[in-house]
Amino acid sequence: MAQEDVFKKIVSHCKEYGFVFPSSDIYDGLGAVYDYGQNGVELKNNIKQYWWQSMVLLHDNIVGLDSAVFMHPTVWKASGHVDAFNDPLIDNRDSKKRYRADVLIEDQIGKYEEKIEKEIAKARKRFGEAFDEAQFRSTNPRVLENEAKKTALHERFAKAMGAMDLAELKQIILDEEIACPISGTRNWTDVRQFNLMFKTEVGSTADGASTIYLRPETAQGIFVNYLNVQKTGRMKLPFGIAQIGKAFRNEIVARQFIFRMREFEQMEMQYFVKPGTELQWFEQWKQTRMAWHQALGFGAENYRFHDHEKLAHYANAASDVEFRMPFGFKEVEGIHSRTNFDLSQHAKYSGRKIEYFDPDTNESYTPYVIETSIGVDRMFLSVLCHAYQEEKLEGGDTRVVLKLPAALAPTKLAIMPLVKKDGLPEKAREIMDELKFHFNCKYDEKDSIGKRYRRQDAVGTPFCITIDHDTLTDGCVTLRDRDTMQQERIPVSELRTRLEDKVSITSLLKKLC
Ligand code: ATP
Repeated sequence: MAQEDVFKKIVSHCKEYGFVFPSSDIYDGLGAVYDYGQNGVELKNNIKQYWWQSMVLLHDNIVGLDSAVFMHPTVWKASGHVDAFNDPLIDNRDSKKRYRADVLIEDQIGKYEEKIEKEIAKARKRFGEAFDEAQFRSTNPRVLENEAKKTALHERFAKAMGAMDLAELKQIILDEEIACPISGTRNWTDVRQFNLMFKTEVGSTADGASTIYLRPETAQGIFVNYLNVQKTGRMKLPFGIAQIGKAFRNEIVARQFIFRMREFEQMEMQYFVKPGTELQWFEQWKQTRMAWHQALGFGAENYRFHDHEKLAHYANAASDVEFRMPFGFKEVEGIHSRTNFDLSQHAKYSGRKIEYFDPDTNESYTPYVIETSIGVDRMFLSVLCHAYQEEKLEGGDTRVVLKLPAALAPTKLAIMPLVKKDGLPEKAREIMDELKFHFNCKYDEKDSIGKRYRRQDAVGTPFCITIDHDTLTDGCVTLRDRDTMQQERIPVSELRTRLEDKVSITSLLKKLC
């Protein structure tokens, strides 16, 4: 099945099974805004918990914060967002569709990469075991040609973005003959800048009102609380502040479902370090974050780092963690070495001294910062894309199953009486009443057992138990595993110990230590 079709299926599966709904659905939705349904909110909460605990429980020098969405407007002046949080946009005159010029060019770079990968895959198939990828890359004329085009485009693009040369961005689009995916034409307008921050007003009267912004990132809430937390928590460098919260960006092109939203959630951690040690910490956080992703068991081959060559003006190193989505490798998380830019700017604009007194050296300085910034919704999408599978079963049937890591699954255990009589529902409820304090259980008595299994597979429930007539006498239930579909009889008294470890966030956290 084409990857595009797989993605469409995932999107409709999300709606059909209560994971993600378009916002204001009865009014036909609102562009790039989504609501999480009964299963989605559980999965999302589990992702957040996995992240939060990996930061705050596993590091005794990282503490949490929950800062407000609304902040003093000067925050965004100081951070540079008022002047520079812009995307270059371009319109196609025929389709009337608007695009981000940088994304059009990045997609074009991706096309060269795809061509190279295709050549390599073809050759690998042809040569089998004997295939030497490094040699093929350095000698095959088609690979070399595409590699040269990719590098040249990349360099030209990086230069144009660095200088925010809008005319040059347009020229690149024309020279590369990039066409609008809707109209197929190259009838482009000029490239213009567009600020991504949403504005609103505080104050009860129009006169007294002042313009404020919905935060486009949670990080600034951490920077402006650096002094509060450092002093009240008596934190010594290096230390981190972690926060999960909503962020808002007026994205020009809202595409790819929850990959790019106008209201989304971020999990950000700012790690304050001594100047001069930041690149060492940057490398360390890259590895720590990659280990966090890979502990989910989706396969190392589905992740890669993308180191930035073009750095934001405040950064001295930056790298993205990319995940293989059905629409290619895409950024899920950014790891940035932000120097002392933000704290120095806030010191300048607020007139406060924002420094750290180092008791070891008796000197004061502005700490440097390593940031790890991951989108909850993008993480959610990567988990779903990897988990969604259509399996052919013996006998010709297919089943749709979400192979979610058990610790992230919305429901851990479905509890099913075989029939709705003979005391089986009561027994099932009794088991549920005991287990519900330990993990998320769902009671289900409707339809045949086969149908109930399929329903649980479709929402990723890792385990089901069936209560039958024998349960009333032997105290055992049938435990069914989602992935292997194997069934076994086990005593009710053993359920908790057998399952708790497998379905808890702790099981994931232990892989990180
Ligand atoms: P992109 O280049 O895709 O616009 P970005 O580099 O601007 O992303 P950052 O500012 O580094 O993103 O934000 C950190 C993380 O927040 C991203 O890695 C992503 O997971 C998430 N994120 C950013 N913008 C959005 C959005 N519009 N919708 C959903 N998640 C987002």
